Amino acid sequence: MKILSVASEIFPYVKTGGLADVAGALPNALLAAGVEMHSLLPGYPAVMAALGTAEAVLRFNDLFGGPARVLAGRVFALDAPHLFARGGLLYGHGDDAMRFAALGWAAAEIGFGAIPRFVPDVVHGHDWQAGLAPAYLHYRGGQRPGTVFTVHNLAFQGQFPAHLFGAMRLPPEAFAVEGVEYYGGIGFLKAALRLSDRLTTVSPTYAEEIRTDESGMGLGGLLRERGAALVGILNGIDTGVWNPATDSLLAAQYDAGRLGARAENKAALQQALGLARNPDAMLVGVISRLVWQKGMDLLLTAIPALAAAGAQLGVLGAGEHGLEEGFMVAARAYPGVVGVRLGYDEALAHLIQGGADVIAVPSRFEPCGLTQLCALRYGAVPLVTRVGGLADTVIDTNEMALAAGVGTGFVFSPVAPETLGCALRRAAAAWRDQSAWQGLQRNGMKTDVSWARPAAHYAALYRELVH
Ligand code: ADP
Repeated sequence: MKILSVASEIFPYVKTGGLADVAGALPNALLAAGVEMHSLLPGYPAVMAALGTAEAVLRFNDLFGGPARVLAGRVFALDAPHLFARGGLLYGHGDDAMRFAALGWAAAEIGFGAIPRFVPDVVHGHDWQAGLAPAYLHYRGGQRPGTVFTVHNLAFQGQFPAHLFGAMRLPPEAFAVEGVEYYGGIGFLKAALRLSDRLTTVSPTYAEEIRTDESGMGLGGLLRERGAALVGILNGIDTGVWNPATDSLLAAQYDAGRLGARAENKAALQQALGLARNPDAMLVGVISRLVWQKGMDLLLTAIPALAAAGAQLGVLGAGEHGLEEGFMVAARAYPGVVGVRLGYDEALAHLIQGGADVIAVPSRFEPCGLTQLCALRYGAVPLVTRVGGLADTVIDTNEMALAAGVGTGFVFSPVAPETLGCALRRAAAAWRDQSAWQGLQRNGMKTDVSWARPAAHYAALYRELVH
């Protein structure tokens, strides 16, 4: 079975978020399940540099304003210099509609067999940038591959003005509620949700949440209508990259039988973030975009209580100016207790996972979340809101879970400063009993956060479509 995956970001070529990790990991994970997946992504400068002298397997004389090719390396790259050969951010360019219409168009061409040595049975698109692929496949008619579309974050919808419709090479009837039209404009995500054979999102709870008016971000009604086609499949993480027993970015490697070695990582982390070198202080780590979605403003309100309880907070992240400033102010107000590193830092992210006692993810909504999966694997106890994928991956350590020996973290709701404070107090109480705490860590480390199970779900979904 052959699957074409279409995404705008694929690790290690280009990454701005979790989508890149997922799109990068799926092909390998699916191999084990007997599925051959190739990925198509835009030929951004970094992608073209990585592909070097790859062979051209498909040419377009005019792909929305210029010549283009598909190069075949480890991935298919859409080499369209007039659309993708530019610096700056990946998105937010004035011609984004045409840039990503082109991605969808090329995907549909491959779907219809334009590359004879790779004719996919299914075209699987990710997020709005791939949203027109199922539309082009749908409206061309005739024999076409099956279509699957995955929502990684419903907040990003790819909405463009109606006057661009004429240039998109879609038939006039596509500009309708049953097609790509959305609130009077063109909705890339909406088109995919309307026209794909199957829809997935990245956790079962998020799949439920987005069907509601409250969390559906304008698409709840459509998702209710398409409910029978929608499933939630959790993400995994690359357990080769994220393995505390072999992780060279840690000060000390360890496994569930050698949790004591985490102390060395904690000391290194305290040093790196300017925190007091105190092994007994419960160290709460955060690795996150500093934005409203991630509940970072709530975390700021929790700092005085954390400090009073003798705990520490170590933050790695970047994002909204006001939040960055808020954490810097807190670090100055609580020297040795709050440590902050602004920016993106892969090595420090690993050290936080390997050295922090708790990883806090107080998101307002979270389609899946990868940070808590890494935390489980690293014996950093996750403290999370009961939303989306966080609710599906962390087992709250309530009294019964503790007695049954199955708790893996602390889960709270509703999302509010008071409930966050309460969860932090529960964690601090548990921290005082170190042998019970180690039980929590070991439970988490036993959790299967690999791609094996999710890949089997995707493979089963593709098979259903093909047969
Ligand atoms: P999102 O994609 O919404 O930002 P996810 O949890 O799905 O959130 O994925 C983000 C990934 O990027 C996680 O693995 C997280 O640990 C990592 N990450 C986030 N911010 C940073 C940072 N400042 N430095 C290093 N890694 C980060």
